[in-house]
Amino acid sequence: MPIYDFRCCACGAQFELLVRGPAQPVCPECLYDDPERLPSLTAPQGTIKTTITKARRAAAQEGHFSNYSAAEKANLIKRMADGTCRGGQSDPL
Ligand SMILES: [Zn+2]
Repeated sequence: MPIYDFRCCACGAQFELLVRGPAQPVCPECLYDDPERLPSLTAPQGTIKTTITKARRAAAQEGHFSNYSAAEKANLIKRMADGTCRGGQSDPL
């Protein structure tokens, strides 16, 4: 179920609502039944990859690799054994 942002045309309130099926959203402030749906904001390009990279690096420095897939772990362990990767010191991907 998607969450949408709305702005009430009657009182100007802005709010988020879970929209289920054909249900008509209602302003929680004044109960106006035709609020304007606002365009969705999308994440900037590269933000998700940057966030994942930072989280993995921090986790590796703490000594756990639970956020890697089995294939990525196998590759990382191989590279650490070869000496081409030192855990959190470089990005294994
Ligand atoms: Zn309203």
